[in-house]
Amino acid sequence: MTENKLILTLFGATGDLASRKLYPAIYRLYKNGHLSKHFALIGTGRTKWSHEDMRHTVRQSVAKEVEDATHLEEFLTHMYYLSHDVNDKAHYQNLKAFQAELDQQYQTDGNRIFYISLSPTLFPTITLHLKTEGLITENGYNRLIIEKPFGHDTESAQELQRKLNQAFDEDQIFRIDHYLGKEMVQAIRNIRFDNRLFSDIWNNKGIDHFQISLLEEVGVEDRGEYYDHSGATRDMIQNHALQLLALLAMDAPKDNSAEAIQEEKIKILASLHLPETTEEVKANFVRGQYGPAADFKGYRQEENVASDSNTETYLAAKVEVDLPQWKGVPFFVRTGKRVNSKSTLIDVQFKPTIEGIAGNHLRIEIAPRTGYRLLVNQKVFGYSHDTYSIPFEYYYTDEQLAQTPQDYERLIFECILGDKSHFAHYLEVEHAWKYIDNLFSHWQKIEPEFPNYEAGSKGPKAADDLLAKHHIEWHQ
Ligand code: NAP
Repeated sequence: MTENKLILTLFGATGDLASRKLYPAIYRLYKNGHLSKHFALIGTGRTKWSHEDMRHTVRQSVAKEVEDATHLEEFLTHMYYLSHDVNDKAHYQNLKAFQAELDQQYQTDGNRIFYISLSPTLFPTITLHLKTEGLITENGYNRLIIEKPFGHDTESAQELQRKLNQAFDEDQIFRIDHYLGKEMVQAIRNIRFDNRLFSDIWNNKGIDHFQISLLEEVGVEDRGEYYDHSGATRDMIQNHALQLLALLAMDAPKDNSAEAIQEEKIKILASLHLPETTEEVKANFVRGQYGPAADFKGYRQEENVASDSNTETYLAAKVEVDLPQWKGVPFFVRTGKRVNSKSTLIDVQFKPTIEGIAGNHLRIEIAPRTGYRLLVNQKVFGYSHDTYSIPFEYYYTDEQLAQTPQDYERLIFECILGDKSHFAHYLEVEHAWKYIDNLFSHWQKIEPEFPNYEAGSKGPKAADDLLAKHHIEWHQ
């Protein structure tokens, strides 16, 4: 195994995401030998922590992953903390000097990853200071990992990209979308392109429709303030759902390079059909907001949410791709909070060979189970010559999943390798925003009737009606 040499600087080391996701991911990389002697992590935040405080937080955060206490203590010696206000230019000089010292100590050859896990409003401040204060090294690689959201519309995304580009080129920017780190999401390309069974009919000749479901039982929890300005469409559809759609619709890339994959995804996102009239939007998009139920508060009663909020917590959409191979194939997408299921699923409905026989159905199950199921037709067992569908399925076991890299772990590792295959290119982000902006421009003209579904129910009735118009139902 080649040893990776780097200093990872984490902005937002005292935050929620760092302790819930990032420290466990980095520890697993260390545990599995991908990070070792030539590695150091500098955590930063305004909080006045010592290195020991940082190590204490990391120790607690990775507790569930620990198999060897001595190895954990060794890992913790690679963790450092520097109190740093990202708005204070002088602090960058301290950081630069500390990085240089650790670079010497750990022989990291000038390689740097800057991971920004704090409010996106601060991304440009940080990247600009990294550049002007000379923290970008000449002798190694410099990569930037940033968290979502990347803007809140096309204009803000363009502005953010312009500012980031003053310090980092596109090929140095890694936008984390943790869905792209999930096992079954990464498997989509293999399933599609490495099976003759699917590859030749993965178009409007063979496929009737797709369903992409990103469903959550939880409400907004303590994210009310952020969510009330965002809503389901910006929070889930613009990034996660449209990324899944792009993976399902893209042509086979000419090779396995990140550039080739991104190029194909860009083509799809640039070809999303933009509804032209408000009537078209009304007919094909169902917004929802949860109201109170016996066991749950309604959205408008949640903490830090306006009591007359019209933010959508649910969206069901019929998305179309304006390319010849996808003409007439709807991509039905739904996401919702406080619904009666917690699951992330892709359903592919194939066309029947003849009327009266069910078309094949492929379910790619991303969560809670990890695996897939294919319904195939065969003869009813016994004297009958009728046809019925039976499942072929493969689900990973808990033991297998425990050995599989987790989403953040995998994506951080891919960034260390410089592999952008599972990161969205800026143009993907921009095209996705253009699609979403168009929806909002129409929605501005339609007053929603919220709340329109009960917390804990399956979602608004109109979402079922949307599919009923096509004589189908949401797969459960
Ligand atoms: P958080 O808990 O509020 O943490 C914010 C971090 O930013 C803290 O470490 C805070 O440290 C630091 N910070 C704030 N102002 C600073 C300043 N002026 N200088 C230096 N550090 C400063 O936020 P989070 O939930 O971890 O989220 C971080 C990022 O990840 C956000 O972009 C969010 O949108 C994204 N994200 C989070 C989640 C999640 O599940 N949490 C999921 C997806 C995306 P001090 O207070 O010590 O300064």
